[in-house]
Amino acid sequence: MNCKETTRFLHGYLDAELALGDALAVEEHLQGCPRCRTHHANLRAVQTAVRRHIEHHAAPASLRARLAARYGDEDGSTAASTRRWSGVAAAGAAALLLAAVWIGAGSVDDRSKRAAQLPAKVVVHISQSGSATAALRNLANHLEASPGTTVVVVAHNEGVDFLMRGARDASGQLYESAVAKLKSRGVDFRICGNTLVRLKFDSGQVIPAATLVPSGVAEISRLQTQEGYAYLRL
Ligand SMILES: [Zn+2]
Repeated sequence: MNCKETTRFLHGYLDAELALGDALAVEEHLQGCPRCRTHHANLRAVQTAVRRHIEHHAAPASLRARLAARYGDEDGSTAASTRRWSGVAAAGAAALLLAAVWIGAGSVDDRSKRAAQLPAKVVVHISQSGSATAALRNLANHLEASPGTTVVVVAHNEGVDFLMRGARDASGQLYESAVAKLKSRGVDFRICGNTLVRLKFDSGQVIPAATLVPSGVAEISRLQTQEGYAYLRL
C-alpha cells in the first residue's frame, strides 16, 4: 500500500472499520512511513477530541473548521462534505455528532471496494478501552469470509476491560457472549498479566474464556517473531 492509498484508508482504520487485510496493510505502511505516521497521529488526536466533546460539550468552531478542511481535501467527496458542513454550521452539538459519523463515512466506500487479503495467522492487539466492540465485529465479519485464519487477540493496557466479568459494550450487550462466539470459531483471547497488576485487577475478575499471559507485549512479540503471526492493533 502506498501513501495515497494509506491516506484514503486512514479514516476507516481509525474507526476499526476496515477489513483485517486492509487494516494490516495500513499498519504495515505506517510502520515504515514517518509522514503517514504523523498524519495518522494527527487524525487520531482529532478523533479523540471529537469523541470526548460529544460526550460532554459542544465542539469549538475551530475544531469543526479544522475537520472540514482536513477531511474535505482527502476523500474525494469535498463538494458533498462542504454542503453538509455549511448546512449544520449553526448547530453546535448536532454538527459535532455529524462530524463523528462523517469521519467514518469515507471508510464504507473503501471497504466495499477491496477484497480483504488476510494472512493465515493474525495477532490482534487491543490496547484501548472501548475499541473492543469494533474489533470483535470486524473479526467476526472477517472470519465469515476466511474461516481458515488463525486469530489470537491480545488485550493489553486499557484494552483489557472487555475481558472482565460483567463487562458490557455501549449498547449494553455482554462482551462475554461476543467473546464466546468468536472463541467457538477458534479465536484465542489472551490477557496481559502485567496490565492486571498495574490496573489492580484481580485475575478472578477475568472471564474464563481468556487466558492469562505474563506480558501482552512479550506475547505479541513472540507470536510475531517465533510463530509468524502478522500484527494488527485495534
Ligand atoms: Zn506513506
